[in-house]
Amino acid sequence: MSTQTVDGLRESVRGEVITPSDEGYDDARKVFNAMIDRRPAYVVRCVGTDDVIAAVSFAREHELDIAVRGGGHSVPGFGTADDALVIDLAGMNDVQVDAAQRTARAQGGTTWGVFNDATHAHELATTGGVVSTTGVGGLTLGGGIGYLARGHGLSCDNLVSAEIVTADGRVVTASEDENDDLFWALRGGGGNFGVVTAFEFRLHPVTDVYGGPMFFDRKDAGTVLRAYREFIVDAPEPLGGFPAWQIAPPLPFIPEERHGETMLAFVACWSGPIDEGEKALKPLRDAAAVVAEHVGAMPYPALNSAFDALYPPGGLQHYWKANFVKELTDEAIEAHLEHGPKVPVVNSTVHIYPVNGASNRVAPDATAFSYRDATFATVIAGMWPDPADTEANIAWVRDYYDATAPLSEDGGYINFMSGDDQDRIRSNYRGNYDRLVEVKRKYDPDNAFRLNQNIRP
Ligand SMILES: Cc1cc2nc3c(=O)[nH]c(=O)nc-3n(C[C@H](O)[C@H](O)[C@H](O)COP(=O)(O)OP(=O)(O)OC[C@H]3O[C@@H](n4cnc5c(N)ncnc54)[C@H](O)[C@@H]3O)c2cc1C
Repeated sequence: MSTQTVDGLRESVRGEVITPSDEGYDDARKVFNAMIDRRPAYVVRCVGTDDVIAAVSFAREHELDIAVRGGGHSVPGFGTADDALVIDLAGMNDVQVDAAQRTARAQGGTTWGVFNDATHAHELATTGGVVSTTGVGGLTLGGGIGYLARGHGLSCDNLVSAEIVTADGRVVTASEDENDDLFWALRGGGGNFGVVTAFEFRLHPVTDVYGGPMFFDRKDAGTVLRAYREFIVDAPEPLGGFPAWQIAPPLPFIPEERHGETMLAFVACWSGPIDEGEKALKPLRDAAAVVAEHVGAMPYPALNSAFDALYPPGGLQHYWKANFVKELTDEAIEAHLEHGPKVPVVNSTVHIYPVNGASNRVAPDATAFSYRDATFATVIAGMWPDPADTEANIAWVRDYYDATAPLSEDGGYINFMSGDDQDRIRSNYRGNYDRLVEVKRKYDPDNAFRLNQNIRP
């Protein structure tokens, strides 16, 4: 591309445009997953909707691939690509809370940490992810599983409207009343339909929560998993949280002699009245002897950032696999007991998130997210600091997945999948797939937004 062309792009946007010859390029092309090493042609650091329109139009005019980046957490690295134009939304992170209406409007590049801090100031929250650096954008568009999902539904269930720049450079509002086909598709269909420049969410009264991690000896893991599967079916809905295989980190509340030992943790979040938290957690706490715990009252944003240090941006290679599960059978628990204790490094983990309660009360065809009859969403998350451990970690994820997939549903949560899972997209959407294709044909017939878990037009 000529200097003149680059200058033209620079003149058409207010944000920075970074090319391979610019200082800061190596920083600008980085994403969360250190295994992704791509060299885009342009990184456009958008500061407003007008920048996004200009970037989309430029990329289309020059036939460039478009990579959209919000929080940058995509495990397959969809937020960057060789020779592409990256629409980097990180600078668009303003959050406006309307406390009276209990809504919040967040720009497209907001992270959950920024969002939660803004809404917490008004004693409100909505369902978001369990790590504060994850983007509101990618997470919500794929569904959005988090501590509050049993009580308040998925993140996408709390979406009231979205402002979106479509492939033809138009700004469109999607809500129940306007472009409702697009609104339906945005709630689970991922980044297939355009660049969302603002998300408007419904909020709920949530301030302090009673939660944190409890660690169980791995010899008790089967007992705890069986207790969890029974308990979670009709546990009070303010109870969120998940069991996790976890190598005990060197934290002060864990006895020193047990640091480095693989255990089964349960990370709890009770968002009901604080004084009822202990009672709500009792069935799990009583399931087996607790080796160590750090459970108590804390602000909701504190729990949402409590594990950030385990996942440094750009500091780990990531390879993940995922499945939805209706029933955690004895056979499935046996498979977890075989593979969980082999978790290779402290950052790698497996979470078995509950997605019942309010998430299950939405009809499977009411939004693009179809697995409304799943009880659990399992993620086998390989995350390791040393590239020399890549083979061992990928092998662990694949073996674990091979053992559990036949005992799970065909589909999995798109946001927990790797780049080699594109052949599973149809099964992730089941009966909603054809309708997604129709919406894709209407809003992005040329598949300009194809660097994602792609719905082909
Ligand atoms: C450490 C970690 C913790 C996680 N925890 C959770 C969790 O608790 N719950 C959960 O549900 N998921 C979780 N995830 C998965 C997460 O939902 C996905 O990785 C998601 O894609 C992240 O969104 P992002 O904006 O950070 O990613 P990005 O890499 O920036 O974006 C991924 C893709 O999403 C689309 N996208 C992002 N923003 C926009 C936008 N504004 N407009 C249009 N398209 C957009 C684009 O297609 C983009 O390529 C986690 C991931 C990681 C790495």
